[in-house]
Parts: sequence; C-alpha cells; structure tokens
Amino acid sequence: MTSLDNRTSGYRRLDDALAAGRDDGRLTAVVLIDLDGFRSVNETFGFAAGDALLAAVAPVISGAARRGDAVARLGADQFAVICPGLTSTFEATDLATSVLAALAEPFSVEGRGTVVTACAGVVVGHGNRTAADLVREADIAVAAAKRRGPGHVEVFDAAAGGALRRRWAVATDLRAAIDADDLTVVYQPVFDIEIGVLVGVEALARWTSPTLGPLGPDEFVPAAEQAGLIAALGERVLRRACRDAVAWHRLLDGTGTGTGTGTGDGSVGSSAPTVDLRVNVSPLQLRTPGFLATVDDALADSGLDPSTFGIEITESVWLEDSDTVRSALRGLHERGIRILLDDFGVGHSSLGSVTRFPLLDGLKIDRSFVAELSVARSEAVVGAMVSVAEAFGLDVIGEGVETPEQLATLRRCGCRLAQGYLLGRPTDADSVAALVRAGGVLAAPGPSP
Ligand code: C2E
Ligand code: MG
Ligand code: MG
Repeated sequence: MTSLDNRTSGYRRLDDALAAGRDDGRLTAVVLIDLDGFRSVNETFGFAAGDALLAAVAPVISGAARRGDAVARLGADQFAVICPGLTSTFEATDLATSVLAALAEPFSVEGRGTVVTACAGVVVGHGNRTAADLVREADIAVAAAKRRGPGHVEVFDAAAGGALRRRWAVATDLRAAIDADDLTVVYQPVFDIEIGVLVGVEALARWTSPTLGPLGPDEFVPAAEQAGLIAALGERVLRRACRDAVAWHRLLDGTGTGTGTGTGDGSVGSSAPTVDLRVNVSPLQLRTPGFLATVDDALADSGLDPSTFGIEITESVWLEDSDTVRSALRGLHERGIRILLDDFGVGHSSLGSVTRFPLLDGLKIDRSFVAELSVARSEAVVGAMVSVAEAFGLDVIGEGVETPEQLATLRRCGCRLAQGYLLGRPTDADSVAALVRAGGVLAAPGPSP
C-alpha cells in the first residue's frame, strides 16, 4: 500500500546500517514517526480513508528523509526513518523536526486537502546495538512524545528506559517470589506512649530480589500494583501476619499478662500489653472483588480474633467513590476490623475526609509532620489533628518518631499512640515475641512522669 519497507525488511536495513557503523564508527539513528489521532481517522471516515492517508503520508516522509536513509512502515500508523552514517544526535533530531514539518504542510488525500500531525521518537546507537534494541527504545521515546502532546519530538532517555526495564525486572522476580512465598514480613511496634506499653504492631513487607538485591516496599509495592500482583502479595502478607499474631496472643494468654482481644489502642489504667495487628492494604487490593473473602479466610485459618485486626489505607481510597470499595470497607467494619487512615495529612488528605467517612477508626499522622515537630507551627497542626480525631472518636497514632523531643511534643499534643525508630524498629516475629514476654514495656524513652 505504501511501497515502503515492511517491518522485516526495515529491521534488516537497520541491522545492516548498524553493522556498517561497527566498521566506520558512525552512528545509526531510528526516527520513529507515529501519526496523531490516526485511529479516529479510521473510526470517523472508515478504513479506506485511513489507507489513503497512509499512502499519502509515506511519500511525504520519504521526501523529507536524506539520501541514503531508508523508510519503513513498522505498524499501522508507525513509520521509521533509518539513518546510517551520523556523527551526532542533532542530525537525527533535525531530521525528525523536518519530517514533522513536512507532514504539517497540507497535502492531498483522494483529492482533498488534509493536514496531519505526528509525534517522533529518536534514538541513536553505535554498532554494538541491535535493531530490536533501537526500535524498542524509539518506541519508548515516541510514547514520551505522545504524553507531551501532538507534534512533539522526544529523544530516547536511557535513564527513563532503565527505570522501565528495572520495573519489569522487579515484576518478573516478584511474581516468582510470591509463588514461592519468598517474601518476609517484619513488624514495627506501636506503643501507648502515656503508659509506655505495647498495644500493637504494623506489618511491613520485606523482600530481597535474587537479581536486584534487597528492595524497599516503596519500590516493589508500586511494581506489584502495576503488574497486577498486589492482591497476591497482600494475601501472602496477610496470612503470614495473622499466623504470627495468633502466636503472640497465645504468649499473652500463657503469661497471663493480657488477653489480646482488642482492648488495645490504649486501655486506660492498665499496663498489660496487647498486640493488635495492623496490615497495609493497597487501594487496588481493596478494589479486588474477592478481598473480603480473603480476609475471612486468613482470619479463620489462623484463628485470629477480628477485633484485634485492622487495616491501614491511604487517602486515595476515600477519593475513590466506588461500590466495591465502599462495600469492602463496610464489610470490614461489620466484622469489627479496624480501619485506619495512613499517612494522614499528605497528598489530598484533608480533615474533610474524616467527616465524610463514618467507618474510620483511627488516623496515622504522617511522619513528615512528626519530623517537623520542633517548629511551633507544626506542633499546632499536629495538635489540631489530635483534636479532630478526638472529636470524632478516632484513635490517633504518630508515625516516624525518631527523637526524644518529638516524643515529648507528641505527648504534649495529646497524641497517645506512636511508632518510630526511637520506640522500635521493624523487627521479625521472634523479636516481637521477646518483647511480649518482657511485658511489652517501652524500653529506652520510658513513660512520661
Ligand atoms: P507506611 O504504612 O506509612 O509505613 C511506615 C513506614 O515508615 C515503613 O517503611 C517504616 O519502616 C518507616 N518508618 C517507621 N518508623 C520510622 C522512623 O522513625 N523514621 C523513618 N524515616 N521511617 C520510619 P517501609 O517498611 O519502607 O514501608 C513503606 C511503605 O510501603 C509503607 O508506608 C506502606 O505504605 C507500604 N507497605 C509496606 N508493606 C506493605 C504491604 O504489605 N502492603 C502494602 N499494600 N503496602 C505496604
Ligand atoms: Mg502503614
Ligand atoms: Mg504511614
């Protein structure tokens, strides 16, 4: 239809150009051109018009190319100009700009004057690269250009490509790790800082990738969300954490220091520890239709009392007004499971979300506020958050306490519950058991007089 090279012969020409570059040390470029809104041409005017447009575009691109360049049609509305013998990237971006300028001139399709715009992705490589490498990178560049809008040119950014490749690698390793149950869970203690006693733990996922080394949840949780693995990951964490929590509760029962039946989050006047379990749940997980059934199963399997269990979710769940999410939250609430709003105060979060949502049991003040507690204004903000929480009958937990000063200020603000490196780093289940055996007493900073 266009009398250009097709994908196969285009790749062959590109590989030939790269091979020639190996001999003379010159660069080869791929300028990938993707028409803007081509689908809507097909949909609005029909496939015949689409084909006519492509047939008309092809000579325009060829005309803008330099002598010695090859033009191939790689996909429906994707054209590649293969440029051998370059000495700089500029030559390739100049070419991309002139191709787009030529396309922007009105030309004739079936006798009618037409204007199209296109985006271009540019990549330049030495002879050690393959055609497949360059086309993949040009594809990434074109997608970046499209994000900026019609008529843009982007040069492939190795760092951006690297980030994308890394995310793929993370997702690939993670899938295997979830199947093999290779993730671990650590627990950060939460203390009643008024009486200096353990009231619960937050479960945090940990993972070491066999190819990339230890990764933080800030990297692998978003990767899991993107790769559709978050429900499976969350289920592993949930089941493991429930089993561990039941073992701590047995210890509490055995030593007679407490019952662990949901009196946590600060039973006034008592110094017996409790170990309520809190698990982070991603918004995507909550949207999964089977979520409640998974929770039920994990609780039943382990024998964990639902009233000692709670989930931490972020503000985005509140912003999302979907039936699935609403009924999941209601179901949790009906089971006596606590719902905590994590990272309170950052992003879109506002006091409004507290008033809008009646099922909420507690707020976790984001650690960025706790970190600034030496500033009087921040103390006022935290004080206000505590007042709002109290007015709505919510627990309030200060996150990320690192210094004795922050701890003292939190207490002054009336914040009764806290966690942070000062009070206890995330540790394994055995260390939590040891803490429970020792009476769950907050060691270093001690209760306020
Ligand atoms: P988060 O829920 O806000 O968890 C608290 C994070 O703060 C944890 O980081 C914890 O290790 C860290 N932290 C605790 N105390 C301190 C402190 O004093 N100073 C500082 N600088 N940091 C402190 P981590 O474990 O890296 O987790 C990061 C985030 O990843 C969590 O934030 C949570 O949103 C998410 N996450 C962790 N595990 C899971 C999981 O199993 N499922 C889901 N969906 N998300 C998880
Ligand atoms: Mg959390
Ligand atoms: Mg948090």
